[in-house]
Amino acid sequence: MREKCLITGGAGFIGSHLARRLLAEGHEVTAMDNLFTGTKANIYDLLDNPRFTFMLHDVTQPFWGQFDVIYNLACPASPIHYQRNPVETTKTSFVGMLNVLELALKTKARVLHTSTSEIYGDPLCHPQPETYWGNVNTIGIRSCYDEGKRAAETISADFAREYGVDVRLVRIFNTYGPNMHPHDGRVVSNFIVQALANRDLTLYGDGHQTRSFQYVDDLLNAILALVALPKERLHAFFAPRGFDLPVVNVGNPGEFTIRELAEKTLALIPESRSQIVRKPLPKDDPQRRKPDITWAKELLDWQPTVDLDTGLRRTIEYFRSADRTAR
Ligand code: NAD
Ligand code: UDP
Repeated sequence: MREKCLITGGAGFIGSHLARRLLAEGHEVTAMDNLFTGTKANIYDLLDNPRFTFMLHDVTQPFWGQFDVIYNLACPASPIHYQRNPVETTKTSFVGMLNVLELALKTKARVLHTSTSEIYGDPLCHPQPETYWGNVNTIGIRSCYDEGKRAAETISADFAREYGVDVRLVRIFNTYGPNMHPHDGRVVSNFIVQALANRDLTLYGDGHQTRSFQYVDDLLNAILALVALPKERLHAFFAPRGFDLPVVNVGNPGEFTIRELAEKTLALIPESRSQIVRKPLPKDDPQRRKPDITWAKELLDWQPTVDLDTGLRRTIEYFRSADRTAR
């Protein structure tokens, strides 16, 4: 069935991939974005599609529209960008979510919200299951994002309990791929852009901290599978587990140190003359990160299929083509 979809943050990295996938499946897509970190370059080729509309709008300002599904992605996701205007980041996360939920309540739209592994903070539990409540600094430099996202989860749960809004949460672990902005600042795009430009790779701290990297196509498969499930099936899965709304970790459990990632990137770009240089570790940088994806496997019959080498090759190819390192 053709659905009318709204993607907030639709000109960003993940949003632009999601827009393409939904259009390919025959849906109508409105991409809302204020272009804070997103760019129209990500969606230029979609602008001529009669089933695609771009809406220049800030999600913190009220908006109206009749949609079947609202995908809430609006929020800067890279530490350097979300820390650039931290008050705006918390506002985008919380007020943006509130606006989405109020619209969903009035129009009976389903909501898919992109939460994050950051809600687990610097985890004391490894790997992290959905039942873990996290270890988060409320007043640190990452808190605008972490606590903004936690508050968005809280208000989602209350709209689900109080008003019966159909809202589904995915907690996304570090995701990468084409359409990341060359100045995005996250580690995968930084290392690739640096290696292609023969600039030194900036390794923060000793590089022993870990992350689990997921290729964007795997994330989209999980998101679309979750949105497609009937509400009754979700209730039957989550109620016995003590959850009033669906919450699913989506990530690739392969765990790598950041130094390993730097070395892998250089190995995949053998012509690079870059070296690895040490830079100070940012404050509150989580030490370990790895998703427990038992629930995603069971509920969605899903698991990641793109390993890190394959995903890095595809992303390197994207940055190589049309010299996106200079954009
Ligand atoms: P991104 O920065 O590329 O995309 C975010 C988009 O939201 C951008 O296009 C930006 O311009 C837009 N935006 C920001 N503030 C806005 C506002 N006030 N109003 C309207 N639009 C606004 O980042 P991404 O990686 O594509 O992330 C998309 C979503 O997924 C974010 O909510 C992020 O928190 C979440 N997420 C991403 C990751 C990841 O690893 N990529 C991990 C966890 C969660
Ligand atoms: N990082 C790094 N060099 C960079 C960018 C990031 O060593 O140029 C490190 C960063 O300190 C963190 C990890 O890579 O330990 C992942 O950082 P990113 O900003 O991609 O995501 P997040 O910290 O939000 O998981």
